[in-house]
Amino acid sequence: MQLIESALESQFDLMFDIEKVRADFPILKLQIDGKPLVYFDNAASCQMPQPVIDRLVRYQTTQHANINRGVHYLSETATAEYEESRRKLQRFINAREDREVIFTSGTTDAINLVMHGYGRKFIGAGDEIILTTLEHHSNIVPWQMLAEEKGAKIRVAPINDAGELLIDEYEKLFNERTKFVGVMHVSNALGTINPVKSMIAFAHARGVPVLIDGAQAVPHMKVDVQDLDCDFYAFSGHKMCGPTGIGILYGKAELLERMQPFKGGGDMILSVTFEKTTYNTIPHKFEAGTPPIAAAIGLGAAVDYLLSVGMDTIASQELDLLNYATEQISRVPGVRIIGTAAMKTAVLSFEVKGVHPHDIGTLLNQDGVAVRTGHHCVQPVMLRLKVPATTRASFAFYNTLTEVDSFIASLRTVQKIFT
Ligand code: PLP
Repeated sequence: MQLIESALESQFDLMFDIEKVRADFPILKLQIDGKPLVYFDNAASCQMPQPVIDRLVRYQTTQHANINRGVHYLSETATAEYEESRRKLQRFINAREDREVIFTSGTTDAINLVMHGYGRKFIGAGDEIILTTLEHHSNIVPWQMLAEEKGAKIRVAPINDAGELLIDEYEKLFNERTKFVGVMHVSNALGTINPVKSMIAFAHARGVPVLIDGAQAVPHMKVDVQDLDCDFYAFSGHKMCGPTGIGILYGKAELLERMQPFKGGGDMILSVTFEKTTYNTIPHKFEAGTPPIAAAIGLGAAVDYLLSVGMDTIASQELDLLNYATEQISRVPGVRIIGTAAMKTAVLSFEVKGVHPHDIGTLLNQDGVAVRTGHHCVQPVMLRLKVPATTRASFAFYNTLTEVDSFIASLRTVQKIFT
């Protein structure tokens, strides 16, 4: 009880008006089978606040037209809003120039763009690509496809039992054949925050470019791509209060300019004849065809919203939730937390002795609690930590300690049913 109070006080101390924030998210009012929704699946997809929904509606009702090629009012308006959204994203991650921000359909698409645009041009037979055990499948499979095509080799930096990267081992992987590093900023399955800034510096000292998968970092902390000095940084809109179908690839201009386009088509060209096509300048060279204009503008609104709450406030709210949930879940018999890194975001993966994660998820759902179960698209992590699957509760700043209590109460019931 004391713990609940002190954690509640900490929410209060921060002058964070949780009820006001929650009122911005209409979906949080849902009841599931008569029980209030407790949405703890934020690492898969976070919910969208009313200002973002309103922005999408305003675009569709008063501003929609195809961008770039019109001289009429609506096309010019849509183009201006689309480019303004790009600038919002640029400022949000502190990119040097707006042309370093490319709209993609998500993190997966962004990584595939780098694989095709950079990898296929600059990585060849015998070259080596360093990844880590923690990577999401979307930062493994594209590189495997490349390695297979080119005869390149993938080397993997291992983790310890807590789910932390073994940095000494990472450093040992470098040699004269190392041509690329891909590493996630934050683990989606375990919450581990990786020391990417020093990992990037180490790679750069050896002339190796680095791609950071920031899908689970950008929604939860301030990210400054110039400070990190990463070469590429990928993230998704739907994990940061924005729409699905939109994401960002940040890339250093000098690298983007040297890369080949990923997709060919309209808008990514300056001129086309059957003899020769001249590509457009960046970022347009990488945005072939009609982009998801509404989603891109919606993502700009999501950035405005996150900034209005404040990234520091978000990080501290979520840390309170993680600490409280960790404390509470540790008291549930038979529970083992998977992923106990010293530096974590608000992701709580766990197993309950004798209970399959799928059963846990199904029974929690009956109490309105939404969690994710399975391998979380990180099968190598599951293999390394010797668990077939986990149950994952992932928190967002709009979650409450009371919701954590409901989740724990429901989990206790599940545990009792199976013992
Ligand atoms: N990388 C990480 C760390 C993720 O958590 C995810 C999604 O769960 C992805 C990449 C893929 O994101 P998307 O499906 O939006 O492309």
